[in-house]
Amino acid sequence: MDRDRRSFILQASALAGLAVLGPRVSRAGAVVRRGVTLLDWTEIAEGVHACVDRWTGGNTVLFGAKGGALVSDAKFPFYGEAILRDTESVFGSIEGVELINTHHHGDHTGGNVAFKARGVPVIAHRNATDHIRGSYDVYIRDVTNGPSMVERVEHLKGRVGPVARELADRADALGIEDWVPDRQLGQETVLRVGDGAVEVRHFGAGHTDNDLVIHDTQRNVVHAGDLVFNKRNPYFFPSGGATLRGWVASLDKLLALCDSETVVVPGHGAVGGREIVGWQIEYMQKLEGAVRGMLERGVPRDEVVGASLPFMTELGSPGVVKRALGAVYDELAGG
Ligand SMILES: [Zn+2]
Repeated sequence: MDRDRRSFILQASALAGLAVLGPRVSRAGAVVRRGVTLLDWTEIAEGVHACVDRWTGGNTVLFGAKGGALVSDAKFPFYGEAILRDTESVFGSIEGVELINTHHHGDHTGGNVAFKARGVPVIAHRNATDHIRGSYDVYIRDVTNGPSMVERVEHLKGRVGPVARELADRADALGIEDWVPDRQLGQETVLRVGDGAVEVRHFGAGHTDNDLVIHDTQRNVVHAGDLVFNKRNPYFFPSGGATLRGWVASLDKLLALCDSETVVVPGHGAVGGREIVGWQIEYMQKLEGAVRGMLERGVPRDEVVGASLPFMTELGSPGVVKRALGAVYDELAGG
């Protein structure tokens, strides 16, 4: 199901519910409070909002409940404060709010700094902590460059620019502890969110060695993190634990969580259904098949890295393609 179709169905079901449920009905599919919030949010299920703006970093999901909310991923540093203020605007308070990181990459954890500054607990897989501790230079670079990065995003610069400048002005006072998670998860768990709960799963190393999948079973929403790059070439960073084999194994387990109605939020790209998980699995299978074929024909590494494979090149980002081909070559050549 493509996004427009899904969005139509979500809106149609919201309208269908309107007659029966009255004012408490889901506004699923609607863009909420544009002009009031700093970022643009879409309600993807009742009380669950997603910000999928490609310029802001990884996709963020707000899982709302009575008496609390879970924010899943915090984008680049200067967007953290925007997410927090929007959480307050959408749910009326940040009382009972917690933040969870789907993995350690800076476009998902940079905003931790804003949550920690306001005393909001930050949760991540235990393997994320060392990677985060090693990312100080990345975070400070992004903090410092924040104002100019926002300036290039026409539809957000007026709203987020002041927040980015405030953070950049504090750069000298920031230390790595301002990003480090407060609570580490070592295994699958159920997290209380106000009067509700979400299941948090770790399928082993895939995109990183600390991937978490957030599954709201009541509202049938899954935040897949960067296990899924919907219609984008996925980033391979072996130093963070990425392996093709592990990634596919994780995707298979992720797919098993989904039914035909599940709303899947990828780490990057548009919200969809379980078909976007299937698309990512097919992509990985094509990638493995192509690299394995070249390896068997004795094609040298630099030619594999420079190969032009239509299913990849059509998605752009040539640097990301090269990185993926190199990483998969090394993995398969290493046995
Ligand atoms: Zn990532």
